[in-house]
Amino acid sequence: MMKAATLTMTAPMLSSWAKLTELPGQLGVRAAWGAFPDELLLLTSEMASALPCEYGNACQRKIIEHGPGDLVGICVQDPALCETKPITKMERAVYRLNYGRLFDRIADGLGHGRDAKRIDESFKVWNLGNIPTVGDHALPVFFVFCATAADIDQALGRLMMSPRECFLLIVSNSRCQKPAHQETALACRSLIIALDDLLCIGPDGKLTAVAGGRATVAAWKDRVAPAPSAVGGDTKFPTPPGTEWNDITITFLSRDIIAIKCGRQPAVNWERLHISGMFTATSREKNPTDKWYMLMAFAARGPSLNMQDLMKLFRSTNWQKMRKQKSDLSKALQEFFGLSGDPLPFDRRRKLYKPALTIRQDTNTDLEDWLVDVGK
Ligand SMILES: [Zn+2]
Repeated sequence: MMKAATLTMTAPMLSSWAKLTELPGQLGVRAAWGAFPDELLLLTSEMASALPCEYGNACQRKIIEHGPGDLVGICVQDPALCETKPITKMERAVYRLNYGRLFDRIADGLGHGRDAKRIDESFKVWNLGNIPTVGDHALPVFFVFCATAADIDQALGRLMMSPRECFLLIVSNSRCQKPAHQETALACRSLIIALDDLLCIGPDGKLTAVAGGRATVAAWKDRVAPAPSAVGGDTKFPTPPGTEWNDITITFLSRDIIAIKCGRQPAVNWERLHISGMFTATSREKNPTDKWYMLMAFAARGPSLNMQDLMKLFRSTNWQKMRKQKSDLSKALQEFFGLSGDPLPFDRRRKLYKPALTIRQDTNTDLEDWLVDVGK
């Protein structure tokens, strides 16, 4: 066998995970994989025509077949330094990454479902399934094979194109990560983490889970997941006694998650699907109701809205129907918070609906992207 250990010593700072993009198509002879774990490799039927020399990737031995089973490798670049030597069949064998096994090991560490699928024709971006949070809410996990920072830019661009909840993006090579990537992810309450922050390859090729990475993901999950109290039969807000409408602030964090702050109490996240009355359909319908869209409109275009604003939003010419829709939303809010009095009263002098509570969107959220879907 080739001396795999010597190969890795030439680049001591580089994690073995860098092999994932160093080797085109995640294919290479065993020696080229270096200290990469055996358990993550699969033997293919392909045979290499050249092998890396012991002195690193800079030179390689071309394989010459003298007869059946009689193979020698001759260094092409520096034959004086690297002697010609016999090559075994196994040394020539090409191994490929066992994608399923790698993604399983990641899933083991994060505790999520395993239904990995490629979402990108260049095979760079994979969807690894979802981390369950509470109820039927889950956070999607993506993986990108990156050789450069631009690969991460591209993956982020792709993931942020579709309006979705937050996501976790695992990047194969921590060296490609730039602070700007994390900032971009944070803006949509998502997280980027490097593979070597989750799984570590020892010098002996052994895989170990990294506790710190797991903790980072867990903390992020707690931050973005809806409150556990929002799940189950009781889907009303635990409004403290004595609360008035003007004590309440609703902040949209995304299309489907709001943070509710009541007086001096810490804000609590709620998911739309778990707010009774806001989501009247029986179970898993994806699109928000008209009531929810109207609440979003107050957050994005408020604080106050007039009848024309509402009619324009719902592309309606029937003001009576709009008035009914507004009073439906008021009732749903009364029910959810257990408060009386109209939370969205009509200001007759200014001819505006002026909320008695604060309805806003997070500075990192732009609900306009979703408001275009009203009535679709
Ligand atoms: Zn050589």
